[in-house]
Amino acid sequence: MSMCSASGGEDSCHGDASLCVGDDEPPPIATAPSTTEATVYRHKNWNDWRWQMANRVRTPQQLFAAFPRLAGGPDLTAVMTKYPMAITPYYASLIRRADRSDPIFQMCVPQGQELTDPPFLTPDPLEECRDMPVPGMVHRYPDRALVIATTMCSTYCRHCTRKRIAGTRETSITKRRLEQIAAYLTEHPQISDVIISGGDPLTMTTEHLEMVLSRLRQVPSVQIIRIGTRVPVVLPMRVTDELCQMLRKYHPVWVNTHFNHPQELTEESAEACRRLADAGVPLGNQSVLLRGVNDDPRIIEQLCRGLVRMRVRPYYMYQCDLVRGVEHFRTPLTRGMEIMEYLRGRLSGLAIPTFVVDAPHGGGKIPVLPTYVVSQSPTHTVLRNYEGMLIAYPEPHQRFDDQCTAPREESSPGVWELAAGRYSRIQPKETIRHARRQPCCTSDESVGDF
Ligand code: SF4
Repeated sequence: MSMCSASGGEDSCHGDASLCVGDDEPPPIATAPSTTEATVYRHKNWNDWRWQMANRVRTPQQLFAAFPRLAGGPDLTAVMTKYPMAITPYYASLIRRADRSDPIFQMCVPQGQELTDPPFLTPDPLEECRDMPVPGMVHRYPDRALVIATTMCSTYCRHCTRKRIAGTRETSITKRRLEQIAAYLTEHPQISDVIISGGDPLTMTTEHLEMVLSRLRQVPSVQIIRIGTRVPVVLPMRVTDELCQMLRKYHPVWVNTHFNHPQELTEESAEACRRLADAGVPLGNQSVLLRGVNDDPRIIEQLCRGLVRMRVRPYYMYQCDLVRGVEHFRTPLTRGMEIMEYLRGRLSGLAIPTFVVDAPHGGGKIPVLPTYVVSQSPTHTVLRNYEGMLIAYPEPHQRFDDQCTAPREESSPGVWELAAGRYSRIQPKETIRHARRQPCCTSDESVGDF
């Protein structure tokens, strides 16, 4: 089977610089919200996701046509050559001011700063390529795998962690590659949770996405399928009844979406989430902390409250990855901590995401939290609450010597095994001291070495 091309290509309406009317169309029937600075009109096919795909802003000329104020500004061709631009007319219509004071503008319009990288940034800081036993599939955690089903998105986020692939070619998974992935999953039944990601999998045609879902469902050990998508944010009209009916056939299917700012919470995005939730799809949100966009506790609070109203559970708030082209978006870790400190107590636990660093070198997601344990003795733990109140929590009177009894797993030991007393140490071997050390003289000293 050949590679899948953009679904928007199927539509009769081709992209044009004015974003508004195809050559053969009558004048616009309604304008976009008066708050937008974009010269975007609500074409009669505005609610057709294929029309939106076909009319994405993709070139400097189209960008200047949509935002005349930008014409004569810096030449962005070099940035767009390295990191492609695409903005759906819908998402462009959410821009209120065509400058960097606008969060939507910052997230989708290329900036010259994307080409100025400090040396510690890399194209693939999570080292996904090194955890790919099959091309296009990342296997990092014991029970989970991630499938890169497409390199296409409807809108290319300037802060994307997969800037190295998103939009560089707009292709989707082939049947042959899918078979290789299914074979790997069958050989590794410990993988029970598969995440379909990209690019944005919901930019694929419903038929193509169904091919992926149905093949994964044929692997008996795959229990949960998750889809990572920004479609409800940037192309909400893609969430059609047809798509929802198809998803229903492959439950349990979860969707994680990617709202970053309350300005993205619109009637259209709420409707997309409603349709998914009504189709029995649990919804989570993964946001990224971005300098000048959402690195303010009150913005995150507003975002989280709005998401819960839309039946979307705030799941993760990511620290920006060390990926090339995003330095201008990075915030210090302390900013995330401040935000978490602010949220606790103001919002219910349901509305508070976990702040995580997706660690470089494939270290995986590491939660970063304010400390609520102030001190500990064998009889009491001293806790603090969000107000600064200190509380002594007494331990059980009866001695509590037994350990948790989880079965041994066939995986490398982690901190849990140290706490359970199963290993005495986890030790790096690539140190000068380690190379210098003599062999153990007693057998019990080797306990825990691996
Ligand atoms: S939609 Fe997701 S994969 Fe696509 S550019 Fe945005 S963050 Fe990257």
